[in-house]
Amino acid sequence: MRLRRLSSLSEPALAEAGLGNGSVPLAGGTDLVPLLRDGLLTADTLVDVRPVVPRGVTPYDGGVRIGAGTTLAELEHAAEDAVPAALREACRLAASPQVRAMGSIGGNLLQATRCWYWRLGHACWLAGGERCLARDGRSDEHAIFGNAHCGSAHPSDIAAALLALGTTVRTTRRELPLAELYRLATEDDRSVTTLERGELLLELDVPRPDASTYLKAMDRKRYAFPIVGVAAARFGGDVRVALAGVAPIPWSLDTDAGLTDATPLPGSAFKVQVAEALVRRAREAVTG
Ligand SMILES: Cc1cc2nc3c(=O)[nH]c(=O)nc-3n(C[C@H](O)[C@H](O)[C@H](O)COP(=O)(O)OP(=O)(O)OC[C@H]3O[C@@H](n4cnc5c(N)ncnc54)[C@H](O)[C@@H]3O)c2cc1C
Ligand code: SF4
Repeated sequence: MRLRRLSSLSEPALAEAGLGNGSVPLAGGTDLVPLLRDGLLTADTLVDVRPVVPRGVTPYDGGVRIGAGTTLAELEHAAEDAVPAALREACRLAASPQVRAMGSIGGNLLQATRCWYWRLGHACWLAGGERCLARDGRSDEHAIFGNAHCGSAHPSDIAAALLALGTTVRTTRRELPLAELYRLATEDDRSVTTLERGELLLELDVPRPDASTYLKAMDRKRYAFPIVGVAAARFGGDVRVALAGVAPIPWSLDTDAGLTDATPLPGSAFKVQVAEALVRRAREAVTG
């Protein structure tokens, strides 16, 4: 396997890097390297995108622009008036200090599922097989929404916070609402993002809310993926809520009634009550 550094975002440089044709973008490597090590992903070349992907936090009128190369630690420690509370808190509660120091926000949004069947290399539905192994097996870490084919639970605290905040994403090819970066996998296409081959995440535009919060239920107080994470952001009288750990992709919840539509797997039913409690508390926190 080769390692090369991307030196420019120009068309020729991107074409030469061959991204998507056996070459895979590498940022902090905290998710990618274990996937390569465990044989869940193969690559001819790793392309270190850190020299060219923007990093840092820049205010604009009405919000903050965040480079996709910004680390979770940098966001966690950003000034209170620079980065919304929901995003700072989601970063603070994610992973460990070591992972947050290396892991970028772009890489966090694109991290692979933590479903243990998939991570152990089983040929489950998401991996191209016939059926979801969580349906008949242990499913207590799994989804309560969007799980008709795959019951995995999206692991990103940060994506839920950004979704509630109404974030827009800029890539090397387009600008899109964060919600459109994700899709539920289908029979024909088992990918859970809409990112095209060779497309890089560059920046995130995060509007400034009047109030925001992120609450997370986890197995232990630190260093655990979300059982359920709930972000709430208030813009005037409008409160937006988004959840982590409840669906194969980050999940927007427009009304409390949305939770009654849950379709849990046998082991994940408890997450509905957890989500109800956290959604209520998060709403109170931003409106109280
Ligand atoms: C032990 C552990 C615990 C964790 N706990 C949590 C948790 O509780 N909550 C949570 O939200 N996250 C958690 N994470 C996830 C962690 O935050 C991510 O691994 C990290 O943010 C990924 O960033 P990275 O820069 O290392 O990405 P990489 O590992 O380098 O890349 C991840 C993916 O993104 C792609 N990529 C990276 N940058 C770009 C770009 N600019 N454009 C296009 N593609 C790109 C890579 O090709 C790869 O597919 C945990 C991770 C670990 C290892
Ligand atoms: S939940 Fe998804 S990733 Fe896990 S076994 Fe089922 S299909 Fe595979």
